[in-house]
Amino acid sequence: MEALSPLETEIRRRIALAGPMPVAEYMALCLFDAAHGYYTTRDPFGARGDFITAPEVSQMFGELIGLWAAAVWKQMGSPENVRMIELGPGRGTMMKDALRAAKVVPEFRTAVVAHLVEISPLLRAQQEKMLEGEGVPVFWHSTLAEVPKGSAIIIANEFFDALPVNQAVKTERGWHERRIQINANGELAFTVAPEPIPFFQTLLSPTLQAARVGAIYEWRAETAAIDLGRCVADNRGAALVIDYGHAESGLGETLQAVGQHAYADPLTLPGSLDLTAHVDFQSLARAAETAGTRAFGPIEQSQFLRRLGIEQRATTLKASAAHPKEIDEALARLIGQNRAAMGELFKVAAFAHRSVGVPPGFQA
Ligand code: SAH
Repeated sequence: MEALSPLETEIRRRIALAGPMPVAEYMALCLFDAAHGYYTTRDPFGARGDFITAPEVSQMFGELIGLWAAAVWKQMGSPENVRMIELGPGRGTMMKDALRAAKVVPEFRTAVVAHLVEISPLLRAQQEKMLEGEGVPVFWHSTLAEVPKGSAIIIANEFFDALPVNQAVKTERGWHERRIQINANGELAFTVAPEPIPFFQTLLSPTLQAARVGAIYEWRAETAAIDLGRCVADNRGAALVIDYGHAESGLGETLQAVGQHAYADPLTLPGSLDLTAHVDFQSLARAAETAGTRAFGPIEQSQFLRRLGIEQRATTLKASAAHPKEIDEALARLIGQNRAAMGELFKVAAFAHRSVGVPPGFQA
């Protein structure tokens, strides 16, 4: 047998000590363990990394987000200072492209201070390099709640899918939390908690209550969504959340592992694979609304980017591009409806304080 990685050794030690581990705890360790976590130890993005995100596909993505933010800022009454907050900025590409595009609204650019919410020290260092020389002050925080109060525009691309997810499995006796054990062959394997979660069934919608035995339901801690809603509500601000997921809460396992642009078993190579699960936009919106903000969408990424003018932007870029075909390919990736593209799978939701009105791209 191959030597186990230090993180797998630690996970097995914890299971031996405390019993089967909840899925969310496993995911949190795999992604964010301070010494061996996936995001803490590597830069996973780009063609040579494990996966590619929309801002890394094309500059058009971040540019349109920058123009969206400038328009929202106007709707907010053009405050003299505005915090442009990004949750989970990765390499910092989206913020860089957004700030560059926002130069067409110079008063907005002057008003902006960037606040990046990032857990990984390695990615913080990359973001710092990326935004050097942009002429905008940048601050880092570990959570959104740490960002100082004041006018705020929040943007988040592929942030919520990386937050640890819980799973429950329906049995004859009710819903049991799904956990990870060491099986008879000595492998990490799924199991369920011996006792059902009290009152779980009654908390679900009637459709979900009718789930068959064996069905899986996923949910996340609502802290991040509530913090987002609160930040928007308290600061008369707005937020944009882009991620893959479903518009309505549903059943089914979406936890997935990706390494080197291929799917893998989430219980193998802990810490070396990206683990994500679909975002439940209905729960996200409910949590944010509880905190006092209005929710818009979700709409499909293709629709959102089209409404913001991505096709025109592509035409302009192509006119002076050395390789116009690459721009067509990037456009197809961002707004295409096929399974390999992001246009349909990715959804966009906005949140705004009542005084801001309807954010750009969300008019009926
Ligand atoms: N938005 C980027 C990166 C997406 S990957 C892009 O589209 O390319 C997820 C990002 O969120 C990474 O930067 C990761 O380190 C960060 N992240 C995940 N969970 C976090 C948490 N709980 N707190 C702060 N940052 C987190």
